[in-house]
Amino acid sequence: MGTYQTPRGTVDYLPDKTPLWQTIERTARHIFELYNYQEIKTPIFESTELFTSSIGGDTDIVSKEMYTFLDKKGRSLTLRPEGTAAIARSYIQHALHRKGKHHLLFYVGPMFRYERPQAGRFRQFTQIGVENIGSPDPACDAEVIIMGIQLFKTLGIHGIVPQLNTVGCPICRPVIEERLKQFLESSLRALCGDCQTRFDTNPLRILDCKKSSCIPYFSAMPDIRQSICQACHDHFDQVLTYLDTHGVTVEINPNLVRGLDYYNRTAFELVSNHLGSQNAICGGGRYDSLISRLGGPSSPAVGFAFGMERLMALVDTAIPPVPMVYIGCLDDDHYSYCFSLAHQLRDHRIKAIHHRDALSINGHLKRASKSNAALSVIIQPDGQSATVYASGQITLPMTDVLAHIIEHTPQTPMM
Ligand code: AMP
Repeated sequence: MGTYQTPRGTVDYLPDKTPLWQTIERTARHIFELYNYQEIKTPIFESTELFTSSIGGDTDIVSKEMYTFLDKKGRSLTLRPEGTAAIARSYIQHALHRKGKHHLLFYVGPMFRYERPQAGRFRQFTQIGVENIGSPDPACDAEVIIMGIQLFKTLGIHGIVPQLNTVGCPICRPVIEERLKQFLESSLRALCGDCQTRFDTNPLRILDCKKSSCIPYFSAMPDIRQSICQACHDHFDQVLTYLDTHGVTVEINPNLVRGLDYYNRTAFELVSNHLGSQNAICGGGRYDSLISRLGGPSSPAVGFAFGMERLMALVDTAIPPVPMVYIGCLDDDHYSYCFSLAHQLRDHRIKAIHHRDALSINGHLKRASKSNAALSVIIQPDGQSATVYASGQITLPMTDVLAHIIEHTPQTPMM
């Protein structure tokens, strides 16, 4: 073991795992394409204030978990802990609302939170997320949920349950909070310090407390849905109806509030029953006033993000290797044939490796099989012919070898 290790809460993905990562990312991109979502890329760090004013000062993310630093000019910057705030900032900065009413965006990238590391919880993790900006329509909420489910099904992940709740809107939020406070008042002294502070500053956030000493006090909580306004009721019902029409069975989780303050109305998580305590692989919700609160035009929106690392633990797809050609020669004088044949194959998008060492035929075939090559080509000592080994073997003039391999080897798919 060397002197240096990955920092706590971070992981290396070695080449045996990266093909799975790429498959997940490619599948996500493919599904997003079906719904006409386009990629957006924003910086990994932003001004700290963007996150404090959007995610909320009482959230764990802002109050405990941000990687914040001063740059050389004394400006406070933060490694992004999530994607939505930066996308809202970008939407406003580039006046995207002027380029169309409805924007369907997705992003892929690392996020940073100073959390207590455990299985499925890291300090650097990668989120893939979508943002559907410009419409208050409950059909959009249903659509992003359906898109997430379709993605996980495509990856062969079953047993995913969407858990849904509503967190109301600015009109009914005071009623929700008042009822919550009435219910918790008598047990307040038994709750943790964070919950006691949040009781005054942000009561809904109490439901997000993960401490085992607090959770039992929330079990008989009055259902938020009894406190929401008619418009929020109608919105929630319509989301459920759209999902039902599409055959999606949901669980209502009345205590689900999510860890970010900008959500209103729909809040949801896609939960796996195969993942222990960190069982939420995807979280999202509606955020109708985030963009206007950050200084942009009124732009209702809904989105989700899922964690790549949690998904990697669930996907069990055997990734078929890309067929590869191995090229070797029996004496070093003919190495230039190996070199040039390998390059010609790559020009035809066929994966190829060649070896400098002049070995015996058996030596080459052993190396080829160790490298999982689908086909091996050994240049003969005359330099005029080569033997191709696949299921059988055939010796061909050098002039015919390229065409033969192209005919018998599938091209590597473009990413
Ligand atoms: P959030 O941004 O908190 O709504 O989380 C959305 C998704 O990101 C979660 O469902 C997880 O899959 C993933 N995620 C959030 N925090 C972490 C973390 N610390 N480590 C790994 N994945 C995470």
